Amino acid sequence: MNADRASTAETSGIALRAYPPPCLAAFTICSDLDETPHEHDAYFEIARYLNTRQETAMGPGVGLEIGNSIYFDMPASQFAYRTTDDRGRERIRTLIRSGHIDVLHSYGDFASTRAHCAAVIDELNKHDCKLRVWVDHSKAPSNFGPDIMCGRGDLPGEDVYHADLTRAYGVRFLWRGRTTGVNGQDVPIGPRAISHLWDPRHPLASAKVAAKECVKLHLGRRPHPRWEMYTANRVLRESTFRDGAATWEFLRSNPYWGGSGLGDTASGIAQVLTNRMLDRLVQSRGVCVLYTHLGKCDDPRRPFSVASCEAFERLAARARDGRLFVTTTSRLLQYLAVRDTLRYRVVREPQATRIVIDSIGEPGGVRRMPTDTELQGITFQLPSGGGRVIVERSSGRELTTQSSEADGKRLVTIPWQKLEFPDL
Ligand SMILES: [Zn+2]
Repeated sequence: MNADRASTAETSGIALRAYPPPCLAAFTICSDLDETPHEHDAYFEIARYLNTRQETAMGPGVGLEIGNSIYFDMPASQFAYRTTDDRGRERIRTLIRSGHIDVLHSYGDFASTRAHCAAVIDELNKHDCKLRVWVDHSKAPSNFGPDIMCGRGDLPGEDVYHADLTRAYGVRFLWRGRTTGVNGQDVPIGPRAISHLWDPRHPLASAKVAAKECVKLHLGRRPHPRWEMYTANRVLRESTFRDGAATWEFLRSNPYWGGSGLGDTASGIAQVLTNRMLDRLVQSRGVCVLYTHLGKCDDPRRPFSVASCEAFERLAARARDGRLFVTTTSRLLQYLAVRDTLRYRVVREPQATRIVIDSIGEPGGVRRMPTDTELQGITFQLPSGGGRVIVERSSGRELTTQSSEADGKRLVTIPWQKLEFPDL
């Protein structure tokens, strides 16, 4: 909660709800596409299974809203924009435009110069394809992470310096190598934050993983950029590129007893999305941006095993009944950035209460007016009863809202619109 919002809430009895109602916690899968096979349309079948109820290679889809990542200059054996065929490229562009590919997973292993990066940006712009999220990949030269990810993309003077171009293209959120084992971010870390990692069926291995996470949390108590993100346990923090520009950096998690590097595959997800993990996330009232590689599969004809499909069904059940707010990484990060920086005023009138949206914050202290799309899902919580509630921009234009009641509170929401999955 920022100070402005807290003071607004105290004086008016109006506060922001953490998630669109009735959701109690939020979840996204942030999957790196490494090792996705070319065969059997595996990349597209994964998207259809996760986002539609259509018949797929794995049976009927689960109808969630889950994105994927893409990279460009890669070895021919790996599925990528440049290594697939024309039809594949056309389908990738369609999914970027619909929002179902939302993450740029570096420019690829072979993109080693600024010219390589600029050519990718030209290609994306030419087709009106925008990606707002960046995730560092392995040891790709264009990475940004200075420590874990060996990146050089934001060092002016390097051959592969591209941070200025990539910002101008529209990338706003960066992942630079930080993954936590804590289940539930954006809530305070309790004394049992990592107790879920200990699994009696694997006492030694799981205790080792829990001990490692303990060390990360302990080191993060000191103000050191390498560690403090773990202890703060926030998905988003303001950060800077090494060329000095401000940005958002985000934290991913994989709360698996075997460590984040083991449960991070198409088959591993069956062990990660357990009832216990999902219920604890809901109880925590937190956020999970799950680190994984859904293209690392055993059988390209059927990328998800029966056990993995059951895991996605468990997730979908909680999305359908409204316990979990599930959306793409890009949309979830955008929602959190707006929620956490929104400034609004409350104006009482005899017949109505007006909530006036003033601005949202960007890294580096810039404030601006959010777009209507960026405000989707934002929910104000008021005492029950009372007269009409109007949400409007500071220009005076009213926004469409929906009203509901929960726990004796009145909730006023700017409606969340689900993405539409295209015909591929
Ligand atoms: Zn990768």
